[in-house]
Amino acid sequence: MSTCKWCDNHGFFLFTDKDGLCKKCSFKIRTEANSKLRVIKNCNELVEKTKKIDTAISNAEVMIKYLSESLKYEMKGIEIYSRSIKELLKEVINQIDEKMLLLVLQEYEITKGKIEQSKTKNSKIKQVDRFKIFTNKVLEHIKLRQIANEPLQNKILSLQNSLLILPEIKI
Ligand SMILES: [Zn+2]
Repeated sequence: MSTCKWCDNHGFFLFTDKDGLCKKCSFKIRTEANSKLRVIKNCNELVEKTKKIDTAISNAEVMIKYLSESLKYEMKGIEIYSRSIKELLKEVINQIDEKMLLLVLQEYEITKGKIEQSKTKNSKIKQVDRFKIFTNKVLEHIKLRQIANEPLQNKILSLQNSLLILPEIKI
């Protein structure tokens, strides 16, 4: 007699596959896994290509959400992808954070350039505010997820501060 790992149904005529799933669960879980994987791959491409922080964040959040939702299968010993989702999630987050840092550093250089070109103190301060709004989005994103990244958080805060103490900004 076999028991399905996911729904716990059992019986003499309940047949399970190599992962210990009944036909119904196997179909449901694999269909879900495949469609999620398609979305994840799509989001990953967008995160890699985009130059916009909003696009990077929103797609990163979908990827993290979908992978996190699939962890429940892994915890029951059901392998839905050929590799560990927990490991995959860590790698995906590392990659996302590298991209976020890249976008933040690019924005920092742009902001510094604009501050130098600005003629009034007011317009210089406006640039600093713009950079803060940009980077706060990244900080919010990092705060909301389960795997933190303190070095990135601190790096962003120090970039924000370094603009605030520029001689032409300082009050
Ligand atoms: Zn089942």
